[in-house]
Amino acid sequence: MQINKIQIEAFEANLEIAREKLALLTWGNASAYDAASGLMAIKPSGVAYADLTPEKMVVMHVASGEILPVSELKPSSDTATHRALYRAFPGIGGIVHTHSHRATAWAQAGVDLPCLGTTHADYFYGSVPCTPPMTEEEIHGSTSNTDGYEHNTGEVIIRTFRERNIDPLQIPAVLVHGHAPFVWGIDAAGAVHNAIVLEEIAGMALATLTIHAQTTAISQHLLDRHFLRKHGSGAYYGQKNAS
Ligand SMILES: [Zn+2]
Repeated sequence: MQINKIQIEAFEANLEIAREKLALLTWGNASAYDAASGLMAIKPSGVAYADLTPEKMVVMHVASGEILPVSELKPSSDTATHRALYRAFPGIGGIVHTHSHRATAWAQAGVDLPCLGTTHADYFYGSVPCTPPMTEEEIHGSTSNTDGYEHNTGEVIIRTFRERNIDPLQIPAVLVHGHAPFVWGIDAAGAVHNAIVLEEIAGMALATLTIHAQTTAISQHLLDRHFLRKHGSGAYYGQKNAS
């Protein structure tokens, strides 16, 4: 039952990133995670979005990487990054990786995406960090481990959040230097939602800095007001019983 549920969630998230044009061709993948069973469902590798079905979502144990027999296809080549993030960031239930144009431009520039306005502040409690470049060792991985590079991509993300004392539930996205964004959420649909917002605010920030290159981040007061009214214990935005 749970397997089917995460397969459907992952399937819908993958369709959505294609529909939203966050992922061209097969340049993206989404996964859904069920913390209770420790299972995740992820896009199969190299399969066009139009050919996906829920049953084609590859189901595996996050801890061991062991693939369940229900799956016949190879999982996304970015699987090891998804597994590393689920293990390190408790509370997240969905991850989206795309090469969406504007967010990827910031990742390629190697620059944090600053919080220049309240659209950003409603979703991300400060700058979306860009990781440092990966080292030669991290890129090559170990010879005994064919997905060492993808695992190390997860490690560099995790290290960036720990060293900079960033709460992954308050900043549910990262720019991987020279690569592209990874975005997460409490579930796969939430991760897609955050990926759409990230792409939009990346474009807004680019336009803002084009108009006025010296624009600085909004004040802590404005950031607090916008983020905390939607998130956290004092949240009051939206309808009381809305989920
Ligand atoms: Zn990528």
